[in-house]
Amino acid sequence: MPQATSMIRFENINKTYQGVQPLHVLKGVDMNIQKGEFVSIMGASGSGKSTMLNILGILDDYDTGHYFLDGTLIRNLNETKAAEYRNKMIGFIFQSFNLINFKNAMENVALPLYYQGIPRKKRNILAMEYLDRMGLKDWWHHYPNELSGGQKQRIAIARALISQPKIILADEPTGALDSVTTDEVMDVLQKVNETGITMIIVTHEFSVAQRTKRIIHLKDGLIESDSTSHYEIP
Ligand code: ADP
Ligand code: MG
Repeated sequence: MPQATSMIRFENINKTYQGVQPLHVLKGVDMNIQKGEFVSIMGASGSGKSTMLNILGILDDYDTGHYFLDGTLIRNLNETKAAEYRNKMIGFIFQSFNLINFKNAMENVALPLYYQGIPRKKRNILAMEYLDRMGLKDWWHHYPNELSGGQKQRIAIARALISQPKIILADEPTGALDSVTTDEVMDVLQKVNETGITMIIVTHEFSVAQRTKRIIHLKDGLIESDSTSHYEIP
């Protein structure tokens, strides 16, 4: 039987930040993530979690090794090609929401479709559908500063979903939220994962990691532990 293609495959990924004192952050990371997995990445501050997520999201390059995204080698892409893969494959969620303050909830959710050249009427209809899925339809005309942290993050999730990505990458998505709101946002992310979207969450909160199905610990530039063993690279 042919081996199914991993959604994400890291082979011996190395990344060094050059500077006065070069910093070797990822020291040969091997990792396989299958379609539909719900994964958290943990590790001390400075252990390379965001670096790893930026490489996964084609926001940054790695130095050596191979990164395959859904079977495609991601290496030295020009910005046009990188943006094409990002837009097709990946939705991002950030700790600080990254909403645009002078756009209302609907316009924020619709923004990725603007960059795809979809006409305003159509993108607003779609944005309302995704707001509705997040239970925020009645809030469409509100601006980010009129919304709670949990509402803002749900708007950011709707914005990440509207381009129908295969993967969601979330960097500390609950880092700015209280524990009740954290649970609500994790409920939403779990439901999104249950629709088949591969979900990768960077967190330093164990309560968040425990809600995922697989916990990967980074330490000193390598994977120190991985709670599932049946996804070993064959
Ligand atoms: P984490 O997200 O686990 O806290 P990061 O991936 O952000 O860790 O950072 C890992 C290490 O790399 C840290 O020591 C950080 O200071 C350093 N670092 C991160 N980004 C850069 C950069 N653009 N240039 C130089 N050093 C960086
Ligand atoms: Mg970080």
